[in-house]
Order: sequence, then structure tokens, then C-alpha cells
Amino acid sequence: MAPGNLFILAAPSGAGKSSLIKALLDKHQDGSMQVSVSHTTRKPRPGEQDGVHYHFVDHNEFKELIGEDAFFEWAEVFGNYYGTSKQAIARTLEQGIDVFLDIDWQGARQIKQQMPDTATIFIAPPSRQELLRRLRGRGQDSEEVIAQRMDKARSEISHYQEFDFVVVNDDFDDALADIESIVTSQRLRQPRQAIRHAGLFGDLLKEE
Ligand code: 5GP
Repeated sequence: MAPGNLFILAAPSGAGKSSLIKALLDKHQDGSMQVSVSHTTRKPRPGEQDGVHYHFVDHNEFKELIGEDAFFEWAEVFGNYYGTSKQAIARTLEQGIDVFLDIDWQGARQIKQQMPDTATIFIAPPSRQELLRRLRGRGQDSEEVIAQRMDKARSEISHYQEFDFVVVNDDFDDALADIESIVTSQRLRQPRQAIRHAGLFGDLLKEE
């Protein structure tokens, strides 16, 4: 069986990444793709479930996991630690299932070095004005808090050139279609097709 493909989606907060990943998974419920659940030392937000959105761990547990070499990559993102478990990903890819990682640029860089075939996708907001509008949220935060969010967004965006693909999320459905095209093209790459269609090529190349 051909192994699954690995995809990384990174974006600044406010680009709509989580909604796009959710829509992608909702649309493709054929068992061909999964999102990896990271470990984090961040506290759960209201509505977040352990084991679903993240594996929530404390600093000591996270350090132990680093010591056990359990992470494919890990990084400190805005004061909290986040990491991608090696085992879960390897197991899923071996089953021929595509895996999506919702991680930051630091994680993308580490994984691309280890697995150059990974498709890294950067999702950008359509304009500075729209990004600010989205970062303002419900309008309950101070200008200082919003300026801090904008700084964080700028820091993530400054790495966009390290990615293989860039999707601008102006129209949601268009952005989703763009991501689906990237998935399709990765699935059609020759090494994977060679394994999938080994029988076909064996047959086609048979001498008369
Ligand atoms: P949040 O705390 O808002 O869920 O995520 C903050 C940032 O951490 C996001 O950019 C998210 O993509 C990133 N992130 C989440 N999980 C991981 C991970 O396992 N590794 C890395 N490097 N970044 C992650």
C-alpha cells in the first residue's frame, strides 16, 4: 500500500485556518485523511476537549515526552509548548491515510527537513484591513491586546516564503478548493502512483 501524504497548514491567527481544516475533513469523510492532534502545555479554552483538540499536558509531562524522543517536532509558540507525536503520525501514514498538521512555521521547518516530500501550505488573510477586523473579534478587547495579536500575526506571516504553497483566504469556498487541488496533486505524484498502480504498469510494460 502507498503511504499517506503529509500536509502542513500554517497561518497567522485570523486567516481562517481552523475553519478550512474543519470544512476539508467534513467534506472528505471517506477515511482518506486525518488531522493530527498535538500535545500542548496551553490551558484548554472553553469548549476544547482533551484528546480531540489537543492532548493537554503540563510542563513536566511535555519535558518527559521530549526526553523520550516522542515528538516529530516541537516548538515554543507565544509562551506555550506544542509538539507533534511521532508515533501517531507514522501509524496513520503507514495505513495509507493522509495526515494534516495544523502547526506553526517552526514546526513546518523541522518537518520539511526530515520529510522533504511534505506539502507545506501557508494560508494568508486577504488584506491587512480584513486581518485586523478578524483580530478585533467581538470588539471587546483593548487596542493594546489587538496590537499584540497583530504583532504575532506579522511574525507568522514573515515566514510565508518558506512554504511550498500559498492560499489566500478571501472567498472561503475558493480557498477550500485551492487546498483540495493541492491534496489531489500530491496524491497524483509519481512515486505514490507507481505503488498504487504497480499492477497496471507491470501489465502495460509486459513484452508481447
Ligand atoms: P492555539 O494555541 O491557538 O491553538 O495555537 C497556536 C499556534 O500553535 C498555532 O499557529 C498552531 O498552528 C500552532 N501549533 C499547534 N500545534 C502545534 C504543534 O504541534 N507544533 C507546532 N510547532 N505548532 C503547533
